Amino acid sequence: MKQHIQELHAQQVDFFLENNPFSLKQRIQLLKKLKKEINAQEDAIIEALKEDFSKPAFESMVTEVVVVYKELDLFIKNLEFWSKPEKVSSSLLNFPSSDKIYHRPYGNVLIIAPWNYPFQLAINPLIAAIATGNTVTLKPSELTPHTASLLKKVINKVFTEEHAVVIQGDEEVAQQLLNLKWNFIFFTGSVAVGKIVNQAAAKNLTPVVLELGGKNPCIVESTAKIQLTAKRIVWGKFLNAGQTCIAPDYVLVHKSVKPALIKALKEEIIASYGKNTIDSPDYARIINSSHFERLESLIDEEKVAFGGQTDAESNFIAPTLIEEPALNDKVMGGEIFGPILPIISYDEERELKKIISSYAASLAFFVFTENKDFAENIMAQFPFGGGVINDVVIHFANEKLPFGGVGNSGIGAYHGKHSFNCFTHQQSVVNHKTWIDIPFRYAPYGNKLSWI
Ligand code: NAD
Repeated sequence: MKQHIQELHAQQVDFFLENNPFSLKQRIQLLKKLKKEINAQEDAIIEALKEDFSKPAFESMVTEVVVVYKELDLFIKNLEFWSKPEKVSSSLLNFPSSDKIYHRPYGNVLIIAPWNYPFQLAINPLIAAIATGNTVTLKPSELTPHTASLLKKVINKVFTEEHAVVIQGDEEVAQQLLNLKWNFIFFTGSVAVGKIVNQAAAKNLTPVVLELGGKNPCIVESTAKIQLTAKRIVWGKFLNAGQTCIAPDYVLVHKSVKPALIKALKEEIIASYGKNTIDSPDYARIINSSHFERLESLIDEEKVAFGGQTDAESNFIAPTLIEEPALNDKVMGGEIFGPILPIISYDEERELKKIISSYAASLAFFVFTENKDFAENIMAQFPFGGGVINDVVIHFANEKLPFGGVGNSGIGAYHGKHSFNCFTHQQSVVNHKTWIDIPFRYAPYGNKLSWI
């Protein structure tokens, strides 16, 4: 395996040297071919996601496949325009010159993907990397083997291996890949592995984008419209059975509306998944038994306000509300990444600040309130990747917004034009004209300073 990986890498290095710049027309053709192939495999993709963790077909379509079509269409439509060198006004000191910014591919790109949205979080970075003229080696997560095999099938059909290749494997394979020299690394996954990736990249000063996670707060202030708030939180928290990097991790609710919120959350859970969630066709399972056990151990039965049912055989954990956990309870330790929602009440704003600032910068931040000043003030006080007022998760869906974390939740951002920027080096080129040469900068300097 190790030798095969090294050979593939060497082929991609040669391919980039020979084909850079791969023509725009060729790249757009490849994106169209990729779309056609994904379209042909649509049912198989949905089936693979179901095999991997019983992901409901609707969620697979909306959060995995459609997201990819959208990104492909955007690149197909805009790539030519985005790729044009940008002319900027020249500096008087260089007169006369023509100054431009070129968008150059980095070269050989490594993408390491996670398991929770295993199709789109692998393909969307690949689309941007290929569109901008890079080669790609993609390592999907070993925890979603059906989707990983399908990714390999799709990519094999559209690209030659020296242009884009999928390498399946676990952390050992990822380590072998990280031992090679890349021109850019795009990683999505946990904070702990993000640090390993960053260290490996630093050896070659390879630029990285790290899309990581965090403990995303969700504030419900006293003026919030409670039923709508509950409906939106239930959707965003229990989508993908809570295994979403930008899902609300815990709720901080004003004590005056806590009983109403808990009542509304229960109603909305039942309205979405019925009284027995285990029978709902619209609810995914936990990815594997070790994550199941990790999550089960976070549930303190004495504090369960709703849910709490589990089934080890099918890795099922019901949508679960935990009321007033202590801050040193396990559930308030790290990122939950599952269908367990702690609810903590607050009275004064300083209590909110104390809790939120005790965690590292989150990937997302949500505030439910009808008080615009409250929302703006509270959001300005904490570092976080991206946020929403009066909803959760949906900032992901606007490709005009850069998607990424800050501090512990990540480095860099992508989506849409931001992905184009992410996978290109902005190269400055000055074309200094020769029909005249201003002598000011040349020695001997004499008393030239007196001219300034
Ligand atoms: P993970 O870090 O365990 O794995 C991600 C990838 O890294 C996998 O392909 C895995 O094989 C590989 N990997 C594992 N150990 C490695 C090692 N020692 N060296 C090199 N590579 C290694 O993450 P996960 O469990 O797949 O995903 C869950 C995490 O990802 C959560 O923290 C979540 O918040 C985060 N996430 C972030 C985003 C985002 O866009 N910011 C999206 C999805 C998930």
